[in-house]
Amino acid sequence: MLYKSVNESFNEFIIDRSDAKCIRCKVCVRQCAYEVHSYVAADDALAEDSTLCIGCRRCSAFCPTGAITIKSNEETFKRNESWSGAHIRNLYAQADTGGILLAAMGNPAKYPIYWDHMLLDASQVTNPSIDPLREPMELRTYLGKKPHSIEVVRNEKTGKPELKTQLAPQLKLEYPFIFSAMSYGALNLNAHKAMAAAAEELGTLYNTGEGGLHKDLYRYGKNVIVQVASGRFGVSEAYLNAGVGIEIKIGQGAKPGIGGHLPGEKVSPEISETRMIPIGSDAISPAPHHDIYSIEDLRQLIFALKEATNYEKPVSVKIAAVHHVAAIASGIARAGADIITIDGFRGGTGAAPQVIRDNVGIPMELALAAVDSRLRDEGIRNQVSIVVGGGVRSSGDAIKAIALGADAINLGTSTLLALGCTLCQRCYTGKCPWGITTNNPYLAKQEMNLLGVMPAGE
Ligand code: SF4
Ligand code: SF4
Repeated sequence: MLYKSVNESFNEFIIDRSDAKCIRCKVCVRQCAYEVHSYVAADDALAEDSTLCIGCRRCSAFCPTGAITIKSNEETFKRNESWSGAHIRNLYAQADTGGILLAAMGNPAKYPIYWDHMLLDASQVTNPSIDPLREPMELRTYLGKKPHSIEVVRNEKTGKPELKTQLAPQLKLEYPFIFSAMSYGALNLNAHKAMAAAAEELGTLYNTGEGGLHKDLYRYGKNVIVQVASGRFGVSEAYLNAGVGIEIKIGQGAKPGIGGHLPGEKVSPEISETRMIPIGSDAISPAPHHDIYSIEDLRQLIFALKEATNYEKPVSVKIAAVHHVAAIASGIARAGADIITIDGFRGGTGAAPQVIRDNVGIPMELALAAVDSRLRDEGIRNQVSIVVGGGVRSSGDAIKAIALGADAINLGTSTLLALGCTLCQRCYTGKCPWGITTNNPYLAKQEMNLLGVMPAGE
């Protein structure tokens, strides 16, 4: 046992403040959710407690004079190629607390990223390239079952050709990406409003995640996928019919085989109303759906949801990328799903046991290629669209995923980064310093106003 807590003894970050630059405005004191900074009136000076710092860099971003620099504390442990500082710190923390260490966002460990080992070939003459600055580029994508073939007939009155084949319901995207499922509760309402509004403006979709759809967001229904997870939070007939598509969540890349847990203290009156659970109660979604123990059970749920929505909405099934993912995907396609969503092991989470997040699952790049070729080999690739997520960092990664067989991309972590997240990975504390994954009204409000996402005063 240590005499002091791990953070106190082996802090990860050091705060370097230039007294010459500091104008004593106390912005850093007000902005830090972790109470790192304080003003010492007797000395007319700012003080800091580096042991509390989580490295979010909000103070340095807001300091008007650039007086603050946050540095990694390289001196904490003696260098050891086998026992990294993270390994040692985690072991101390477990010994100190006796608890399971929690983690958030995606797996940060140094595993191979296959996107970085792939290059795209380009065509130039026989299939001339499009100049995106001067020519329109068609990026519109439709997700859902496609027929094996189509029949076109000529309209006897107008003489014009018409499609005779009846198409299954489709999700229309102006760009081949979707804002990933991130629940209301894990994220606050401001973040959900921002994603819903952005989806509407861009002509794409936002996914509710497993926490239901807040009543203020029903008006974005044309741009919403509603999720049905094992906890069935917020699921009602009105909810199922509120969006354009439904997603059954079986698994998640960051924690395959693990359910979810929103602590009771985050279940505010509005979250309780949306999730349809008591205020302050823990929202625990079990690891399995308790009505799905076989592919036949999954088929029953898919068709129950189709029945409840008059067969007008495509149903997606989301799974984590794991071994045998191709066989699982084949079963899902044959069970009647219209879309398969595959979440790779670098996908984000609001909270997960660190040992699971960092050691379970496979990369989305490998899973995607395996699923696409298996469905092609079986002649059923047209029966489902494939959406992938879990570590797409740029349009370059996205294009490589599409080249490997994806129809569209789920964007989770990159969406949060666009909202101002600095990947401090403390979402599970409920004190997101950038106001995204917190339900603390003060923290939630200030960042959205800063970004101009919300009108001042909202
Ligand atoms: S925000 Fe910068 S200038 Fe203001 S008190 Fe803190 S360190 Fe000094
Ligand atoms: S969402 Fe907030 S708490 Fe989570 S990693 Fe980003 S900045 Fe940190």
